[in-house]
Amino acid sequence: MTRAPGHPRILVIEDEAEIARIICHALDEYGFRWEHAATGRHGLQSAQQRPPDLAIVDLGLPDMDGMAVIRQLQESAPCAVIILTGRNDVTDRVLGLELGADDYLVKPFEPRELIARVRSILRRYLRGPGEAPAAPGTALFSGWRFDAARLGLTAPDGREVSLSAAEASMLQALLRNPNRILSREQLIGEREVDPYDRSIDVRISRLRRKLEDDPQNPRLIKTVYGAGYLFCSTVAWE
Ligand code: CA
Repeated sequence: MTRAPGHPRILVIEDEAEIARIICHALDEYGFRWEHAATGRHGLQSAQQRPPDLAIVDLGLPDMDGMAVIRQLQESAPCAVIILTGRNDVTDRVLGLELGADDYLVKPFEPRELIARVRSILRRYLRGPGEAPAAPGTALFSGWRFDAARLGLTAPDGREVSLSAAEASMLQALLRNPNRILSREQLIGEREVDPYDRSIDVRISRLRRKLEDDPQNPRLIKTVYGAGYLFCSTVAWE
């Protein structure tokens, strides 16, 4: 999954014509390339033909559950995801984040707010975490293997483990800084993180479920209370 910086492709999956129009107009205004799909099925088709860098997905679609759309996107065309929800429903948001969404917006929202989220997420994805562009390579740790170019993770028993783009980006930040405490800001390459933003913790817990024998007593990804997270393993990059 290589991404060309500078020309991110954004897929908008939203059935309400007026909201879709506002989103696409804002994206136009800020110079983003976009495609619009009014149903989940069309969105998934479009993503397969032209994989997006970021999908903006309304959770209330006429033909499919938005969560199912996100799940299928993560399998067929992993990309960053912002979910839109009309309901101020915390359960939906948390479930969306659990499924691999990077952020959410509750309708109605300011187009400017949307653009700010889009920019911040694309910055993370297109540059990788931290300041410098993330160099590709393969990381070996505790019997595991992570291929940074294709975002593939292989377990010690040879099993392929699928990662969402958001999980892979966070794992990469940890693997580039083993045995060092990383703050939440460092983990996602942002200057400031809202203390109530649960998306980082959600992503860490998803990574633990994939990497740890006992996610309740993590051996690899340790929480350092009040400071951040610590990746406890030697890591060899090749
Ligand atoms: Ca809708």
